[in-house]
Amino acid sequence: MKTKMHGNPMFVAGKWIEKEDVIEVLNPQDNSFISTVPSASKEDMLLAIEEAKEGAKIAAKMPVHLRISILNKAAEHIEENQEKFAATIALEGSKTIREATAEVRRCIQTLKISAEEARRIHGETIPFDQAEGSEDRIGYYYRFPIGIIAAITPFNDPLNLVAHKVGPAIASGNAIIVKPATLTPLSALLLAEAFDYAGLPPKVLSVITGKGSKIGDLLVTHPAVRMVSFTGGLDTGEAIARKAGLKKISMELGSNSPVIVLSDADIETAVESTVSGAFYAVGQNCLGVQRIYIEEEIYEKFSTLFIDHVSKYKVGDKMLETTDMGPMINEREAIRVERWVDEAIAKGAKLLIGGERNGAFYSPTVLTDVPSNCTIAQQEIFGPVVLLYPVADFDSAIEKSNDVNYGLQAGIFTKDIDKAFEAIGRMDVGGIMINDSSDYRIDGMPFGGVKGSGIGREGVKFTIQEMTEPRVVSFKLAHKRLFS
Ligand code: NAD
Repeated sequence: MKTKMHGNPMFVAGKWIEKEDVIEVLNPQDNSFISTVPSASKEDMLLAIEEAKEGAKIAAKMPVHLRISILNKAAEHIEENQEKFAATIALEGSKTIREATAEVRRCIQTLKISAEEARRIHGETIPFDQAEGSEDRIGYYYRFPIGIIAAITPFNDPLNLVAHKVGPAIASGNAIIVKPATLTPLSALLLAEAFDYAGLPPKVLSVITGKGSKIGDLLVTHPAVRMVSFTGGLDTGEAIARKAGLKKISMELGSNSPVIVLSDADIETAVESTVSGAFYAVGQNCLGVQRIYIEEEIYEKFSTLFIDHVSKYKVGDKMLETTDMGPMINEREAIRVERWVDEAIAKGAKLLIGGERNGAFYSPTVLTDVPSNCTIAQQEIFGPVVLLYPVADFDSAIEKSNDVNYGLQAGIFTKDIDKAFEAIGRMDVGGIMINDSSDYRIDGMPFGGVKGSGIGREGVKFTIQEMTEPRVVSFKLAHKRLFS
């Protein structure tokens, strides 16, 4: 991957830096060359951390009105350059241009919400006189920024998932160092450009491109870094959590999300929603639909309609507005998906449609009768494959939904309000969507999972909670009581 070519510089504490050592960014559709980014060294990362120490002081002192205007200006810059941002996401990643455009709109929202939430970082007064001997105290707590945040992000939403860390960090007065996914660094650099344009003081933000294996350890273990905000796979997340030591950790990890379809559901709506949820972004979506549990009496009707919808999916050139699904992020990932599907078929699963690979392209694939000892039945597929399971009843659907080591989001289609409430109580997930698939999110809602899906919540206001710490203030009065 290393060449001597020069392309995009990286953003180190407000300066755009080029390097001899670079990484090529390729278009997964045909492996064509897009650009290069620096392959940062440990020294580069150390410099970013040293500068961020100063950046954290600058960020914390920035008045809220300035944080608001910078966040809004960055959002406006992205709005004015929407086409460029969308084309970059689509070119370097595997989203279609339609999906990429939707991500840009989401990113603008994330930054605008961050600007709004900046004015709502509240503390509260504390009734100290609840404790005997403290009748002469009054006080409160503020929420203070924690300092330097390390943000490590995945390839599948290369802009908005970076904005979900940078927006709240700036809103809450922190410095932040982003290590974007090695395969898709260009969108994160465009975001840095937006903040540079918006007048963010130097040293508050760095976007350091390079390999996690080379610069990751330094970033997550450095004692000056007070929080690691990671979005990515379970294995990487666990390894980082073990190394990080005594600092805050936020882990937004993967899942193999379930959706339950009960016999009273509107089948057409359930099919449309679950097909889209399974194949959005080529199934490389942390809340994508992987397992669908359908009550037996409607199974035939549901699966026939489902296959009919999937058969109409247009797979091809991701830059065309008419394309529904592009390539996976690279051929290696498509080969992994192919292997998992083949393993399931060898163990007795039935292929209903798909199962074909051409380079990085993998056709939308539907399996049924998948034995529980298959990798695909337990792990996150993170590709365009969905499993259909007929189930005898609601109870069995809930039990099977929960019987995995993940729990990010789930969906249930039913008109029965009692069953919906029962599912809310019994499903082990961070979010449950009634009459929607698991693939539903807005940027202002709490988002995150349980079990192997992570620790903590994102969604601007909730990220700000994680990125700040309360500081208690107590005044000892000369007189006994404030109110007498
Ligand atoms: P990944 O775990 O392979 O990589 C994520 C990031 O970690 C990348 O930037 C990578 O370079 C970096 N990294 C790798 N090794 C590192 C190390 N030793 N130290 C520091 N950083 C290191 O994930 P991916 O393949 O890019 O993304 C797919 C995964 O992300 C899926 O599991 C998906 O479900 C998950 N994801 C979760 C959410 C969420 O919000 N819960 C959102 C999107 C994606």
